[in-house]
Amino acid sequence: MFFDVHKIRADFPILSREVHGHPLVYLDNAATTQKTRRVLEKITEVYTTANGNVHRGVHSLSQAATNLFEASRETVRRFINAASINEIVFTKGTTEAINLVASSFCSSQCGEGDEVLITAMEHHSNIVPWQLQRERMGIQLKVAPISPAGELLMGELEKLISGKTKLIAVTHVSNVLGTINPVGEIVKIARQHGVPVLIDAAQSVPHTRVDVQALDCDFLTFSAHKVYGPTGVGVLYAKEEWLNALPPYQGGGEMIESVTFEETTYNRSPFKFEAGTPDYVGIAAFGTALDYLTAIGLERIERYEKELLDYATERLLAIPGLRIIGTAKEKSSVVSFLVEGIHPYDLGTLLDGMGIAVRTGHHCAEPLMHTLGIDGTLRASFAFYNTREEVDRLAEGIERIVKMF
Ligand code: PLP
Repeated sequence: MFFDVHKIRADFPILSREVHGHPLVYLDNAATTQKTRRVLEKITEVYTTANGNVHRGVHSLSQAATNLFEASRETVRRFINAASINEIVFTKGTTEAINLVASSFCSSQCGEGDEVLITAMEHHSNIVPWQLQRERMGIQLKVAPISPAGELLMGELEKLISGKTKLIAVTHVSNVLGTINPVGEIVKIARQHGVPVLIDAAQSVPHTRVDVQALDCDFLTFSAHKVYGPTGVGVLYAKEEWLNALPPYQGGGEMIESVTFEETTYNRSPFKFEAGTPDYVGIAAFGTALDYLTAIGLERIERYEKELLDYATERLLAIPGLRIIGTAKEKSSVVSFLVEGIHPYDLGTLLDGMGIAVRTGHHCAEPLMHTLGIDGTLRASFAFYNTREEVDRLAEGIERIVKMF
């Protein structure tokens, strides 16, 4: 089916702005994505017509806000095909969702010496929460290695599963390498060992259809701002039996059934994990963002982005001295690279001067950089609103800088 990228671009107001006198080329979508006019309007609409704190009031505004908030929970459920809205917990983002699982899971399921297995390509947000639990609970952190191409060594991963492994926590897509990990296969292997699996889907949900029932994962996390929704909102999907079994993460309003000074009983899931006033305005607009993606179709998005990735890979590889970091067979629309003799920071700054936004540095994956023996990379990450012309602008910009050096 025809994919009219120019029509799509017109839905995103920021894409028509200039940076340093040049039309913006926004290639930092793995860090955060841009928002449609409708998402922005939704935020204003809720504040101007339906702003009342959720779940607490009998008055009309509170009920209107609650309806929008709960409608978004259903939209998220449908988007990832969860079995029930009770399995959708709203958080501040992927980071908070993983911290929630690390805290509630380790405190109730782990003892001294028990193990959590991660991979060498995790974002800091799927490393540090487990390290905090290592300090608190005495758990051990095991790390599955990767190949030089940036693919998970599945045989090694399986060998690292022991009788003490309590959880496997793995990223679906690497934010640095673009590698798509075989998470379905990982879940199957984990099941054979009776080990639950958490999938960090921050970089996959924006680009491909993620079906939690098909994956059969226990936990899955992602952030609204990377899926064209507002900042400050995220999702923890967890199988209902886990949410019922785990203790709360934070205490406060909403998460209780009844409180006395002597004792508190907790609300049912998912509310048990949603202490305090949530960002119900952002969550309402998040639903709008997901509806937009559904209307375009994730399969079409994936196909278009794959073509863009192939084109970008070809264009970049033609530049003398440019080396791509992350050459897995299965890749999402992320290209990390280095150019011989030019520091990534300098290259990124010069590209910004041409209106081209790419990210430089360790991308919150310092241990991965150590594994690869580098300090950082430049990263161009593509969304379905990017074009081949923008890839050309990136490649031509780098070529000009290479000549300058
Ligand atoms: N996991 C991965 C793979 C990411 O790429 C990111 C953000 O870049 C995160 C987790 C953390 O997401 P957030 O900062 O939205 O919590």
